[in-house]
Amino acid sequence: MSTDNIKSYEFKAEVQQLLHILAHSLYTDREIFLRELISNASDALNRIQFEMLTNDNVLDSDTELGIWLEVDDEANTLTIRDTGVGMTRDELILNLGTIAKSGAADFLKRLQTEKEKGDDIIGQFGVGFYSVFMAAKEVEVITRSYQPDAESVRWVSTGTNTYTLETVDKTDRGTTIIVKFNDESKEFAADYRIENIIKKHSDFVTYPIYFKDKAINQQKAIWRKSSSEIEDEEYNNFYKQLTLDFEQPIDRLHLHADAPVQVNALLFVPNKRESNLFSLRKEPGLKIYSRNILIEEYSTNLLPNHFRFIHGVVDSEDFSLSVSREAVQNSRVNDKLKNLLTKRVTRMLDELGKEKPEDYAKFWKEFGVFIKEGVSTDVSTRDGLVKLLRFHSSTTEAEALVSLQEYVDNMSEKQEDIYYITADSIPAANNSPHMDYFKKHDMQVLYMVDAMDPFMLTSLHEFSGHALKNVDSVEIDLTEEEKAEEAEAKAKLPDDKFAEVITRFKSVLEGRVENVGEAKYLKDSPVRLVASEEAAQGKEMDRIRRILDQDYEVPKRIIEINRGHPIIQNMPELITTNLVLANTVIEQLFDNALLSEGLHPNPAEMIPRMYELIEAATKQM
Ligand code: ADP
Ligand code: MG
Repeated sequence: MSTDNIKSYEFKAEVQQLLHILAHSLYTDREIFLRELISNASDALNRIQFEMLTNDNVLDSDTELGIWLEVDDEANTLTIRDTGVGMTRDELILNLGTIAKSGAADFLKRLQTEKEKGDDIIGQFGVGFYSVFMAAKEVEVITRSYQPDAESVRWVSTGTNTYTLETVDKTDRGTTIIVKFNDESKEFAADYRIENIIKKHSDFVTYPIYFKDKAINQQKAIWRKSSSEIEDEEYNNFYKQLTLDFEQPIDRLHLHADAPVQVNALLFVPNKRESNLFSLRKEPGLKIYSRNILIEEYSTNLLPNHFRFIHGVVDSEDFSLSVSREAVQNSRVNDKLKNLLTKRVTRMLDELGKEKPEDYAKFWKEFGVFIKEGVSTDVSTRDGLVKLLRFHSSTTEAEALVSLQEYVDNMSEKQEDIYYITADSIPAANNSPHMDYFKKHDMQVLYMVDAMDPFMLTSLHEFSGHALKNVDSVEIDLTEEEKAEEAEAKAKLPDDKFAEVITRFKSVLEGRVENVGEAKYLKDSPVRLVASEEAAQGKEMDRIRRILDQDYEVPKRIIEINRGHPIIQNMPELITTNLVLANTVIEQLFDNALLSEGLHPNPAEMIPRMYELIEAATKQM
């Protein structure tokens, strides 16, 4: 071979950096390099298949689409050949000389920002082609593009800072990669090893992977098989190879339909929300095939946005292949599919909730927030989503979750509305003065304690004919016994004295509360805040504003005073003997009430006043 056409090039700086990390890596799972090379070959085959839908002028248009492997255990090499799109000289320089778009860029970014060790996260990112240098001392790429007049090129590198390019004579379309293993990686130049790795990482590649003259992968698309042919383990393996998640999915949906659209789909609910960050699926979206051809890698058009945590494959023959990807997205087929998939995913989750509450609880913990987001943003699917909601509540055990339907089923006959309380946490909800009456009567109250809940409540007003009511604005019916208790409390604090207390509250809190009134039923709390009828509308918004910190001003409420509470009953005397202290007490009661409503802008500000009060209390002793 003549050497005069060999030219040497430098890798881009970030590639040099990556190669350095890989060459010195102690990462033990080096076999993933093969997964990366096979996945590139499979991508290249997908692309040529897609190209051929609209382009007649493709080199070797009749050649079989496949991947061929060959091991030479004497030379310590592995050869991987595909009949995919191939690369032109310029594409080679871009794709294997820079970090064009691979997971490698994310990997480097993560290394810089998180100060993590490369070895810990290489596997999570799928650093792409360059990972071959964990196992190779030299790599050769010989490639010819599908474009009939492109020249064929040979790329060689030892994984240091440079590579060479030369024009060669490869007559057929596609790419051949020859990996010369380094001393630590000779184990890979063995037949059984290669077969194992393919089974483990690349079994579901949709093109045949030939090794020793036979295809060693499954090939038949799992989503086209009948579900009775498939064991759980095979589903889980497919899921793992699709996403690179380590854990198995929480649930799956395997769907075959002929009407209203033809479709085979296999969708999964992952185990964790976070794992997607490092997953092979770098973005949300489903893989779309038509007649075995990959049309889109990440389609976000087939499920509503709030189901973006779902991974999987959708294969429909009804997509017309002669049109562009954009047109696919806007077609009526798309609408029908989206409808169908949305309904079936919703139903799958509904059934999971009914049949496997423990799994559902796991799902809810990870993805409940997406469902709530859907309820607040997507009117068209709300009815189905509302059934998926779960809440903690005042009458269930701490971890237990209750659905709106269960709540309604448990309601006593005279209860018409669904009660909820908004608070910052479950303990805060538990201790809220608004709960006094409901606890006493053993009435169930749903706890809305997520940041997302106030958003959701702005668009969730009723369920199955029952209004959702915040306990701070529920009209309370007292029993005869409670009325007697109240009368007794009033007797201890006659009207004229109580009026003095009210007047004092009014003057201290002037401008900060809308009004001061008498609480109808409070047991353990001296005061509580309620929203006036008009303000009730904006109440959830107040909490949202506080969460988002948008020009937050403490909203004005009505403060209700518990005439039966000892603190209130002591007030008339305190007002006459120590007005300053009385005012301080009122300030503190107001702050406590704000705090328990989740409305206090800065609780730490209360501390100096609390010392004053403690000082006064200790003086009395
Ligand atoms: P990624 O696959 O995430 O894009 P890689 O580092 O694995 O990143 O590959 C970089 C690029 O090199 C690919 O995007 C592709 O354009 C090109 N490439 C790699 N292998 C092949 C191949 N066998 N055939 C054609 N192009 C390839
Ligand atoms: Mg790749």
